[in-house]
Amino acid sequence: MKVQKTWQKRQKLYPLLSIAFATAIAFGVCQFPLDSLEFFTYDLRMKFRPIHKTSGLISTVAIEPLTLKVLGHEPTIEEHQQVVANVLSAQPKVVIYLNDPSEIPGSIDQQKAFADFVATSGKFIYAVNDLPPIPGDGNIKLKAPFENIEVLAAPKTVDKNIFAKDGVTRRMILSADSQMTMHPLIVSRINGSANIANYRGVFEFIETQQSFIDFRPTGTYTAQRFIDILQSPIDLASFKDKIVIIGRDTLETSQDYLSTPLSKDIVAMSLIEMHANAFDTLLLNSSPYRVHKWINLALTLLISIFTLYVVITLRPARGLLALALTVTGFLLLAYLLFAGFGIWISVAHPMLALFICYYFFIPYRLIVENRRSWEYLQKNKLLTQVEELKSNFLRMMSHDLKTPLARIQGMANIVLGDANTLSDGQRLAMSHIIESADELSDFIGSILNLGRIESKEIKLNLKSRDLNSLLLEVINKLSFLANKKNIQIITELEPIFSIKVDEDLLRQVFTNLIENAIKYSPENTKILVTTEELNGKLMIQVADQGIGIREDELENIFSKFYRSREVKNTEIPGSGLGLYLARYFVELHNGRMNVESQPQKGSTFSIELPMELNS
Ligand code: ADP
Repeated sequence: MKVQKTWQKRQKLYPLLSIAFATAIAFGVCQFPLDSLEFFTYDLRMKFRPIHKTSGLISTVAIEPLTLKVLGHEPTIEEHQQVVANVLSAQPKVVIYLNDPSEIPGSIDQQKAFADFVATSGKFIYAVNDLPPIPGDGNIKLKAPFENIEVLAAPKTVDKNIFAKDGVTRRMILSADSQMTMHPLIVSRINGSANIANYRGVFEFIETQQSFIDFRPTGTYTAQRFIDILQSPIDLASFKDKIVIIGRDTLETSQDYLSTPLSKDIVAMSLIEMHANAFDTLLLNSSPYRVHKWINLALTLLISIFTLYVVITLRPARGLLALALTVTGFLLLAYLLFAGFGIWISVAHPMLALFICYYFFIPYRLIVENRRSWEYLQKNKLLTQVEELKSNFLRMMSHDLKTPLARIQGMANIVLGDANTLSDGQRLAMSHIIESADELSDFIGSILNLGRIESKEIKLNLKSRDLNSLLLEVINKLSFLANKKNIQIITELEPIFSIKVDEDLLRQVFTNLIENAIKYSPENTKILVTTEELNGKLMIQVADQGIGIREDELENIFSKFYRSREVKNTEIPGSGLGLYLARYFVELHNGRMNVESQPQKGSTFSIELPMELNS
């Protein structure tokens, strides 16, 4: 008992302990940088979301394999100047050059001519793959004769030693040491939004402000060919008011390319397209928004608590299903938030917490289950022991009572037989003694039978017997009782074949039924005992006009020690064992016993026995 109480006390503490565990696990898990896993799921979300539209404000021009083939050489600086001149003639917003002008082949004079031409246009920018200079260091400048060309910092980021460490480009740097890079600078010139903090998804990272690029698949921005602009500049109108990015897409050097969340190929996307994506991310303010780490912690905590709840309370199969649904639901939520609203919630930490909680607490769950079944086992053992003790006690007691009782019965009969010495009062007392001794003897007989049933000791002693004569024998024996109440026992016994039965057991059955009919009937009533052969079976019925049995008690009367409410408080003697034993004995003969009854009208007990006992 004491053990059980401490166990129960402990069980009350468990919800609190579980929450404490879940919190510890959530905090612990969130300390692990799971960037590789997180960015893997980020890339998947990016890959399978609906494709975002472009702003339509970007045009691109590429020096690509066909240009090189047609020209037969690298474009000269004069050819570059011609292309820039053609593009500028269409009045773009700005021309962004990704190639270093100082590395374009040409003579000093040609270089100077190019530099002067583009610098005076006021719309030419060379995008250098570098961070902005530290304040005080002035602007980034090219060497003479290109020193007047505007150079802006447009660094390409690669996750090499940080974040996912997989060499993929996912971010852009918007400012470093409070100096804006090219993309926000140009966009602020177009729409006047000069405050980086106003952009969606901006985060601080080692003295820089960055955001994730809202990548579209490669090929979204189809570039015009350098050669087409040079030789037949027919489609120049499309450059009007655009940000025109001119670069290389020759597949010659990997520096002109990058891997994106959509493809890990090292030449997955040209720099030209990366810059186009970066511009559109700012122009449309559509950078993916990574939620604050506290929100991720809260989600992780929620999932941990839920997992523990499921593991501890649900059955294993259901628990597994619930967790599978949770994982699916959570992943779906993460996807929908990203696809619909560009909101990026952490997936790696909550999922890891879920797995840890699951595997950590399954053994605990097993311990609880074991403990429970151990308790059941103990209880069961105890119950069986008590049951055994009870039967042993009853059997012992009954045996020990039997001999003195037989002596009382014998002596009482001798005294009663000696008619001369007794007064009327003494004679009455003597017959009461005999009656009570008979009742007690019946009771002891029943208890002994019960003991035999429970220890499965009963074996049928089958002999061919005519049941009609057995019934008459019983009726004859009980007629004395019936006469006392002026009850008439009528018999309607059809001639039936003798069948093999255990005579002693059936005698007890019939005695019980007829005795009950007499006991539970008022004076001056009738009892009808019938036998017949019906559909190959023997039917024996005992019907009385007695007090009857209520419907809700009909089945109970065949239970051990059951006595109806009606008779419990009367003086009618009884143990409640008779019908239990009678039905059991009938069933041993493969028969059935039933009752129909109406309160205050009477009861009919029916026994159905097979003609042949196949046991
Ligand atoms: P008991 O020793 O109490 O008669 P039984 O097992 O023979 O035990 O019967 C169980 C109960 O069924 C009785 O206590 C009584 O309430 C009810 N019962 C049995 N036979 C009759 C009957 N013929 N008429 C009314 N009630 C009956």
